Amino acid sequence: MYIATANFCSSLQAEVLGEQVAETFEINRVSVDSRTLLNDPTTLFFALVGQNHNGHAYIQELIELGVRYFVISQPDRVKIQAGVTYFVVGDTLKALQQAAAWHRKQFDIPVVGITGSRGKTVVKEWLNYLLNTEYTIIKSPKSYNSQTGVPLSVFGMAERHTLGLFEVGISTVNEMQNLEPIVQPTLGILTSITGEHQEGFASEYQKIKEKMALFAHTSLILGEKRTDILEAIPPTATYVSWSLTDTDANLYGKVTGNVLELCYNKETFFVVELPFTDEWSIKNSMTCIVAMLVLSYDIPIIQKRIKKLYAVELRLQVKRGINNCSIIDDAYSSDFQSLSIALDFLEKHRSNKNKTVILSDIFHSGLEPKALYQQVNNLLKNYGISKVICIGEEIARYTKDLPGMRFFFSTDEFLQKIALDDFVDETILVKGARGFRFDKIVSLLEEKTHETILEVNLTALRHNLNFYRARLKPATKTMVMVKAFGYGNGSVDIAKLLEHEKVNYLGVAFADEGIALRKAGIKTNIIVMNPEISAFSAMIAYDLEPEIYSMRELRAFLQVVREKNGYQYPIHIKVETGMHRHGFLTSELEELIGVLKSTNGVEVKSIFSHLSSSDMEVYRDFTLGQIELFKQNSTYIKEQLGIQPLLHILNTSGIYNFAAYQMDMVRLGIGLYGIGNDQEEMKGLRNVSTLKTRIMQVKEIEEAESVGYGRRFRAEQPTKIATVPIGYADGIHRVWGSNGGYVLIQHQKAPITGSICMDMLMVDVSAINCKEGDEVIIFGEDLPTTVLAEAIHTIPYEILTSVSQRVKRIFFEE
Ligand SMILES: *Cc1c(COP(=O)(O)O)cnc(C)c1O
Repeated sequence: MYIATANFCSSLQAEVLGEQVAETFEINRVSVDSRTLLNDPTTLFFALVGQNHNGHAYIQELIELGVRYFVISQPDRVKIQAGVTYFVVGDTLKALQQAAAWHRKQFDIPVVGITGSRGKTVVKEWLNYLLNTEYTIIKSPKSYNSQTGVPLSVFGMAERHTLGLFEVGISTVNEMQNLEPIVQPTLGILTSITGEHQEGFASEYQKIKEKMALFAHTSLILGEKRTDILEAIPPTATYVSWSLTDTDANLYGKVTGNVLELCYNKETFFVVELPFTDEWSIKNSMTCIVAMLVLSYDIPIIQKRIKKLYAVELRLQVKRGINNCSIIDDAYSSDFQSLSIALDFLEKHRSNKNKTVILSDIFHSGLEPKALYQQVNNLLKNYGISKVICIGEEIARYTKDLPGMRFFFSTDEFLQKIALDDFVDETILVKGARGFRFDKIVSLLEEKTHETILEVNLTALRHNLNFYRARLKPATKTMVMVKAFGYGNGSVDIAKLLEHEKVNYLGVAFADEGIALRKAGIKTNIIVMNPEISAFSAMIAYDLEPEIYSMRELRAFLQVVREKNGYQYPIHIKVETGMHRHGFLTSELEELIGVLKSTNGVEVKSIFSHLSSSDMEVYRDFTLGQIELFKQNSTYIKEQLGIQPLLHILNTSGIYNFAAYQMDMVRLGIGLYGIGNDQEEMKGLRNVSTLKTRIMQVKEIEEAESVGYGRRFRAEQPTKIATVPIGYADGIHRVWGSNGGYVLIQHQKAPITGSICMDMLMVDVSAINCKEGDEVIIFGEDLPTTVLAEAIHTIPYEILTSVSQRVKRIFFEE
């Protein structure tokens, strides 16, 4: 797009520093992410300033990548360079929003604004599917609905588009007013309002009011008929309502099985067949039907298309593949905007050097195929994809033949011709339009294991990291503990995320854990907490830094360093302050200092200690005593050696309860994985891990029949029993079965019956309408590890780290 400089500056109230620009300048993309590989000379970069992140820090790096245009708010942090233009504004986020609003004004097309508590993304994706034959649609990619996501989505609007579909989410009051001018919806859609995400609002009514602010200048709004909603509608707007309970709504829907009878003025209007029967999907389809009616679609078309709606899977999932590959499963979306998001994701999560993309035809982009695939080619080249597999008639015809490209006309042809050995040590992005059935490719390339999985939500993990970082001063460094396989969750994928989030250190327990991270390409500093003398040599080879806790260990390490002609190898001194696990006693400091003074083989990078009871209010004084002793002893070592190492003592609950003692660094552990030590702290955290499986078999037993080894369960009445393929060998503590243990099926409790077996357990599902193949939650959001832990007298740490390695880990981002 071409930007008229004067208009741009005046709408942003920006002052220009550095290279003056001509009357207009051309940019192809707006970016706020310094890490995407797309940043180039046609990027306009907004240096956002957040709690833990400052875009200004990356400007130099970006200039080296060729970026020429920056919107900044902290000119002091920037070294002005020739050939680079800096637009200086007061607040870069505001400027991003103003610029998007200004961009929006250039287009006079219908724009649908979608907000609500639940179903925004589904409704947006469905409408895209339902309407794309008639319109060239620009829509928010994935769920880009935040204060930055909305403007970035709107920047995608171009001449060729004839309809906009944008979703908008808010978490508290006064946010919507920033977003309304960016979207300027001509049609408003309010999806279901629920009690979820209520924290930022005083009442549900206030939440509705705030969401409604998106439609302050919209003349037509549609949504559910509810008294509180009707009260909140802006007076100038017409509201078209639907309901599944109130026959007075403009459109009343009566559900019988999968048939939806639509009534207008209490008379049957028409009937549609639905491809599902659950409440939320039915509500979302009501919304879509009303939208199609409002857009004057004919009934037969509505009936035909609604019947083909599908479950929306927007998460990008990382799965373990065959031959040491990993697979990024994005098998159900093929729009052009989400391609670069998926490529960024690939870059972020690749665990192998070689990047492979399997891509189908891209539909409904509004671009001529030639221009479209030219852009696709450029993207793939920018991201350094080494192998590209194109599947589809169009992509095969129009994509230029880059090295490493292969072409197939259909998924079936690919499946027939490909050999599994063609994929070794690669990270493979599988991305295709729904009709291509790329799920078949994913099934082929996926490592085959049983159906029990531990799902790890990386978005929640990042949220938790930021929750703790927000409690720290900006200069305080973070070390994150990924010991014990990332507290059971999987260390490599988590370490990748943490590296991307620029944490300063990773902590592992043993050298081999650190070596595994290095082999996977992790470059962040790694401290080994329990280094064994036999592993010193390997640690040096892999740049792993030892915790030094005793004279014996120090001497042995110095010996290995000398053999390797090492110089100032980084070490971390642990001092004992009350935990009595490892560390130098006060009485040993003299000797320690003596040895350190006499060598230049090692350099003390940090001095630290570990709190034994930072989660226990009753031991507050004890903890303060530990901190005091640590201060004295670390100061003494510093002074004697004349050094300035980092000092650190706080673990997760230390950060939460003793933030004043954060010193130079903190060591975050369990909190990252979503577990805090009280209700209040838990409220700010998100659940990260979900252990789930599927029902293998359901059977009815008679009164007095028994279940399992030793007949420990006897039915008191006819009982429906489901067998679930997970047992104590997967890490489910056997005692959980006899301590009120249960699992969740259809959100309901199913009590464990009889003894848990090695690979299976049985549950009573008499009260649950379920069938074989249904999902079973062992722990997760609605059944937290804290509940299991309490029932069997242990701690969540043990529950998490017990999940056996045979359980497949799946990582996803929302
Ligand atoms: C495990 C560990 C931590 C992290 O503890 P959490 O309670 O999980 O936050 C911090 N420091 C050391 C030395 C550890 O071993």
